[in-house]
Amino acid sequence: MPASSYVGRFAPTPSGYLHFGSLVAAVASYLDARAVKGRWLVRMEDLDPPREMPGAQAAILQTLERYGFEWDGAVERQSDRGEAYAAQVEQWLRSGLAYACTCSRKQLEGSNGIYPGTCRNAQHDWHGEVAIRIRVPELEYTFNDRLQGEFRQHLGRDVGDFIIRRRDGLFAYQLAVVLDDAWQGVTDIVRGADLLDNTPRQLYLQELLGVRAPRYLHVPLIVQPDGHKLGKSYRSPPLQPEQAAPLLVRALRALGQTPPAELARATPCEVLGWGIAHWAAARIPHTLTMEDARL
Ligand code: GLU
Ligand code: ZN
Repeated sequence: MPASSYVGRFAPTPSGYLHFGSLVAAVASYLDARAVKGRWLVRMEDLDPPREMPGAQAAILQTLERYGFEWDGAVERQSDRGEAYAAQVEQWLRSGLAYACTCSRKQLEGSNGIYPGTCRNAQHDWHGEVAIRIRVPELEYTFNDRLQGEFRQHLGRDVGDFIIRRRDGLFAYQLAVVLDDAWQGVTDIVRGADLLDNTPRQLYLQELLGVRAPRYLHVPLIVQPDGHKLGKSYRSPPLQPEQAAPLLVRALRALGQTPPAELARATPCEVLGWGIAHWAAARIPHTLTMEDARL
């Protein structure tokens, strides 16, 4: 059988343990890759040491292992990729596509998170404690999500020039994710719907880099009954290894799949094996959020 050209990935941020919502995203990207005999990578998005929870990286990988996931190759870490990110930022600074921004948080109050372009033509020195922003065009970016359908966003009006390197010197998620997905040859991104409205920025960066855009599938975000995203508003407890099979079955149900009830008593690998054999991405609910309590 010819090797599939599909390359998928799971890219957790080690700011906490894996929670049920991240498990759902991991299951979706894993099954989507393995159902077509594609590769599946794990990338640790440890870009932000101050927000990292000590021990989270090891705990996440251990949970993935105990839940039966098998990834291809070594786990790449964004903390090892600083040189690549810095080189790209520098190239865009030199070409004038990126520029230094000295605005304080206070100065940006009231602009609804849309950067008003204050420093665009100010020619601030880019050495030192400044944020680096990329210029965006007055254009709408559109893509066709495999699940959510067509999504459009006008970068100039709805986003504005966005940060690719923060004032504290840390690189921005938007930059790192695009450079890494391209570097690792990722063809298919399956992730939580909270990132849907980040995608047009990422498409724009891919266009600047001249790399092919991957396909996207944004799965519903699991929220608490009060509407809060799981894992972000409070620290979720780790997913227990004894719960692996039943939680994997619950994740499959959240994804619209129809596992038989007795699968909850199988091994985690068997649950995932069933998921691979029966994967039907079209059955995933076409919603952006889903209440945890209803599952
Ligand atoms: N690291 C991001 C997160 O945990 C996911 C990034 C992505 O999948 O593009 O929310
Ligand atoms: Zn500024």
